[in-house]
Amino acid sequence: MRIVVVGGGQAGSAAVAKLRVLGHDGPLTLIGEEPVPPYQRPPLSKAYLTGEMEAERLFLRPAAFYADQGIDLLTGVQVTCIDRTAQTVDPGGRTLGYDALILATGAVPRHLPASVGGDLAGVHVLRDLADVDAMRASFVPGARLLVVGGGYIGLEAAAVARKLGVAVTLIEMAPRILQRVACPQTSGYFRALHSAHGVEVLEGTGLTRLTGEGRVTGAVLSDGREIACDFVIAGVGVVPDTALAAQAGLAVDNGIATDQMGRTSDPRIWAAGDCASFLWRGGRARLESVQNAIDMAEAVAANVMGAGVAYDPKPWFWSDQYDCKLQIAGLNTGYRDVVTRRVGDATSFWYYAGERFLAVDAMNDPRSYMVGKRLIELGRSPDRAAIADPATELKALLRA
Ligand SMILES: Cc1cc2nc3c(=O)[nH]c(=O)nc-3n(C[C@H](O)[C@H](O)[C@H](O)COP(=O)(O)OP(=O)(O)OC[C@H]3O[C@@H](n4cnc5c(N)ncnc54)[C@H](O)[C@@H]3O)c2cc1C
Repeated sequence: MRIVVVGGGQAGSAAVAKLRVLGHDGPLTLIGEEPVPPYQRPPLSKAYLTGEMEAERLFLRPAAFYADQGIDLLTGVQVTCIDRTAQTVDPGGRTLGYDALILATGAVPRHLPASVGGDLAGVHVLRDLADVDAMRASFVPGARLLVVGGGYIGLEAAAVARKLGVAVTLIEMAPRILQRVACPQTSGYFRALHSAHGVEVLEGTGLTRLTGEGRVTGAVLSDGREIACDFVIAGVGVVPDTALAAQAGLAVDNGIATDQMGRTSDPRIWAAGDCASFLWRGGRARLESVQNAIDMAEAVAANVMGAGVAYDPKPWFWSDQYDCKLQIAGLNTGYRDVVTRRVGDATSFWYYAGERFLAVDAMNDPRSYMVGKRLIELGRSPDRAAIADPATELKALLRA
């Protein structure tokens, strides 16, 4: 069986490794359009951006891994066409046949439109290694950064910038930062954290336009205010990369639509990671996290080999900002209220829908994260009063 994986990121790399572990000994090709082997993205807005991590440490596997495993790794090569009848793809203009094709094309960042100055020099997005390499020289003490968008990527970039002595204004169009992904309490925690570190956080404030001749020098905000800046990072979200799937006529529904096993509308084609919207709990889910990229890719690899297992994600996520490590377990979709737990510097927010516990955001609180994650796996909902009481020994909740 010839297996081809398109997309040399976290999911693509996990898929090929798992296929070899599971005993696939036939031809296996991994095709990525970036000029480097698969690497991890999380440090791009953290230790790599600060300069504390070398590029070599980003790579998910040593260069020799692919050759040792008999994996044909094509880098700097884009696939532009899937011929589903002939069962071929066209990396770099050549024709490559497949018996099973896995799409792991990830997501692409939204750009600020040229009509508001998004095409000016000094305006960046933060997705690829090349994006970071292009902006790093701007992170010099005294420089002024405008971050557009108060999601995790924008907040992490703001934290790095402050650490490097850059003045930061962060604008968020919604009434609060992290509105799309977190409760008001978590938004409040990070607003206070960033404000304490000198970031000017402007919520309910959009971008009217960027200004500058050729290069960005300032911005006009939706409240009429004009600010000066030397560079801009747009952290305004990503969209699943469905271009190839759409070209091939595969079903697309907020991502490449798959069944529970990761199979697309063509039984020979599968999808995994940020690009995939999979059937889950009676609806569709699409997750943007390392955990999902690896676990779904491994599930798809097993299913390509005939396992027939439904993918059941166990969501977790993390973010590092200043000295705060945020760890999230579960999915808070549909929550109705939030219970706060504070023990010393450790803070956690527990999401409930009625009596059902859904998710936890834990700030410098690994114990709440670990216990919350385990409770979710066990399908248990801890008593709210017990969670709120700092005297409660959380591990006891697992024994109860
Ligand atoms: C700055 C940053 C920080 C992050 N921090 C965290 C974090 O702290 N925790 C966390 O859980 N997640 C984090 N994430 C999210 C996480 O990195 C992604 O969810 C994960 O990388 C998704 O993996 P993927 O393989 O699906 O997609 P990607 O990693 O995006 O890989 C897809 C690859 O496919 C390539 N490709 C697309 N189309 C084609 C084509 N036609 N031909 C060839 N190649 C193609 C793309 O160029 C890309 O290299 C972060 C992401 C970013 C950008």
